[in-house]
Amino acid sequence: MINGERTISRPLRWGMVGGGRTGQVGYKHRTGAQRDGTYRLVCGAFDLDAERGRDFGTRLGVAADRCYATYQDLIVGETAREDGVEVVSIATPNFTHYEITKACLQAGLHVICEKPLFFTVAECVEIEKLAAQKGLIVGVTYGFTGHPLVHQMAAMVKKGMLGDIRIVDMQYTHGFNSGDDVGAGEAVKWRTNPKTAGSTFVLGDIGTHLYYLSEIVLPHLRIEKLLCDRKAFIPTRAPLEDHATVLMHYGNGARGRLWVSSVDAGNMGSQRYRFVGSKASVEWSDSRPDQLIYEVQGEPNRTLHHGMPYLEEESLAVDRMGALHTEGLGDSWSNIYLWIAQAIDAKNRGDEAFLKTHHYPGIKAGTEGVRWLENCVRSADMGAVWVDFK
Ligand code: NAD
Repeated sequence: MINGERTISRPLRWGMVGGGRTGQVGYKHRTGAQRDGTYRLVCGAFDLDAERGRDFGTRLGVAADRCYATYQDLIVGETAREDGVEVVSIATPNFTHYEITKACLQAGLHVICEKPLFFTVAECVEIEKLAAQKGLIVGVTYGFTGHPLVHQMAAMVKKGMLGDIRIVDMQYTHGFNSGDDVGAGEAVKWRTNPKTAGSTFVLGDIGTHLYYLSEIVLPHLRIEKLLCDRKAFIPTRAPLEDHATVLMHYGNGARGRLWVSSVDAGNMGSQRYRFVGSKASVEWSDSRPDQLIYEVQGEPNRTLHHGMPYLEEESLAVDRMGALHTEGLGDSWSNIYLWIAQAIDAKNRGDEAFLKTHHYPGIKAGTEGVRWLENCVRSADMGAVWVDFK
């Protein structure tokens, strides 16, 4: 169980690029990072609007002279200080991730970056090399993948409790973009423009969460082929999609089905996962994150609750609230930030042995998400045909 005891020797000096007052995801980063005393927010270039960013930063408790107008100013200002920032989180629109990550790494700073990590696998490979050369960590924030019941599912699969995996069924849908984009805010504008979002809208925005979670639960499964059908129900969003279905064939013969949509009008269910094996199935949704449905063929169905002693050690080890008390998205983010802090601490100490076995969402997690997107787009743009996964 995680109880806030410090697991690294001192808090990391932490800064943010983006995630300002109007940003959607910034608070999730701050609530995740500042939970266990592993990070201390010392600076930021929080906003495209420099004045608003400074005002916001100072209200977060950051010194005014360390609230910068741009990420370039932040790098110059902080690297000139003895007590300068060590790790920077990037919570800006997709098209800026690559250039900000690269600039931070070149300046000797660890990076925690939003998904989808970059636009292309080639960029990911280049950044992986740069990070390795500089001895720095790149972490990626897939929000719900720190939840104890996600790790319960992974442990059950590993133990063989489901048998051989046959069916992977995942859905992340909502209806917030069911209408047109006339008068839409910034977050919708950049998400629906290929120059700022990349080659996808919902596949990258929400599909990459599904894909990474399935990689955690089913690390032994590899996609061999996939077929992606995507559509913009609101035509101004084309060539980007507001709806997509992806069929996947895995190396072990398993079959996968994934649905992402932001035009699923009225749906507040968010994410849902069902992993079916030859003996049993598990089903989990972030709309009821405390509960895991475990169904063994021929037996009464069971609902497993987070924090209960009958769960696997891997799940209990990352639980925070304990049974009976809701454990949710904020707790999951805290775990992700904690694991990345432990990775940065180990890297700083040169402890490669620790890093070999330590689980955290790193550059590979980001790269695989981008690889999956490239394959989806290739299939969809050829007319929704089966393609070999490359
Ligand atoms: P947003 O448009 O709501 O907010 C972006 C923020 O970044 C704003 O504060 C803006 O002023 C600031 N900004 C933009 N460019 C900047 C720059 N060059 N320098 C400094 N600040 C800059 O976007 P959002 O919804 O918060 O998404 C941001 C990123 O987070 C995207 O990559 C998105 O995919 C990702 N995201 C991830 C999750 C998750 O669960 N992990 C959830 C939502 C968004």
